[in-house]
Amino acid sequence: MTVFPQGRAWIELDRAALRHNVGVLRSLLPASCTLMPAVKANAYGHGAVPIARELYRLGVKAFCVASAAEGAELRRQGVRGDILVLGYTHPGQFPLLRRYRLMQTVIDYPYAQLLNQYGKALRVHIGIDTGMHRLGIRSEQIEDICRILQMKRLRVEGLFTHLCADGSQQPADEAFTLAQARAFDRVTDELAARGIPCPKRHLQSSDGVLHYPELAADYARVGLALYGIRSTREDARKAPILKPVLSLKARVATVKSLYPGEGAGYAQAYIADRDRTIAVLAIGYADGLPRALSCGVGAVLIHGRRAPIIGRICMDQTLVDVTDIPCVRAGDTAVVIGTCGDAAVSVYDLAEATHTIPNEVLSRLGGRLDRVRV
Ligand SMILES: *Cc1c(COP(=O)(O)O)cnc(C)c1O
Repeated sequence: MTVFPQGRAWIELDRAALRHNVGVLRSLLPASCTLMPAVKANAYGHGAVPIARELYRLGVKAFCVASAAEGAELRRQGVRGDILVLGYTHPGQFPLLRRYRLMQTVIDYPYAQLLNQYGKALRVHIGIDTGMHRLGIRSEQIEDICRILQMKRLRVEGLFTHLCADGSQQPADEAFTLAQARAFDRVTDELAARGIPCPKRHLQSSDGVLHYPELAADYARVGLALYGIRSTREDARKAPILKPVLSLKARVATVKSLYPGEGAGYAQAYIADRDRTIAVLAIGYADGLPRALSCGVGAVLIHGRRAPIIGRICMDQTLVDVTDIPCVRAGDTAVVIGTCGDAAVSVYDLAEATHTIPNEVLSRLGGRLDRVRV
């Protein structure tokens, strides 16, 4: 029997699934390529601290985050190993980089100068723009890249690019991805030609590892796949099989009867057509349950049966119809994402019903949820 917290709504993290996914991803990469998991956005809603700790136990010694604050929080919670900040850090926060031994991404040439002017040595990875045109120095600006490598106070430990069409295996996207990889290689070749030692290199994220394993370098920045999720349900059907790490559950706070014609919830958006039994769940959109699942668009599982969401999802509560599910009581558990008996609600279901991607659904799961490892 699993021990549940006494909480109202919670995430359960399946350690065995995480271990399985780490094994699958490692098996696709040569031994020389190390996982550098993306634990940004609270590890895609899973909980950055429990996920990073568990990964560390599995031998993972490098992580990436989006912001210096995320890196600092991991350190305060005792997470060791290398932590790379992938995104922008304001110069006013450069002290955090040193205090918490974080590595910062160099996002363009003027930013390299700012980092170098900080006055104390900083560990950095240079972001190289090979076609995404988001962060990074354009790959053809080789002179600037060499100048950064020689900046006095920058300890350049890595060079990386980000692939932006690797999720698709359409011929045009494949050609684009390979062109990105070639542009990245040209930077390395130029450095070699000039006798400048090349730092560690990385370019793959989850789709890169799964669709282009041959592009393995020194690190692979895997996020979504590590959590057992792919970008689409279609991708998830393909091998290798990854196991979802996260389940989302909520407590039944109370159960009540409605007479025909009575409404429920804000604006009485739901009207009982006959005698109905409804359950009030202790989870709402402030917990990350998309409000777009209101009024029958979404459903949860109670006692292994589907209970449609009725009326409008509230900030802290959600109403579901349990008329056809016998013996639902206060204190029962509703599965919002996960399995229950033979039934399942997946993050793909939620993403498709709300016209978004699994990444967005997961990363919005809120800080008010309890997180337990099972
Ligand atoms: C978020 C992120 C990743 C991880 O991407 P997944 O698709 O979740 O594996 C890798 N690299 C960068 C630069 C990112 O921003």
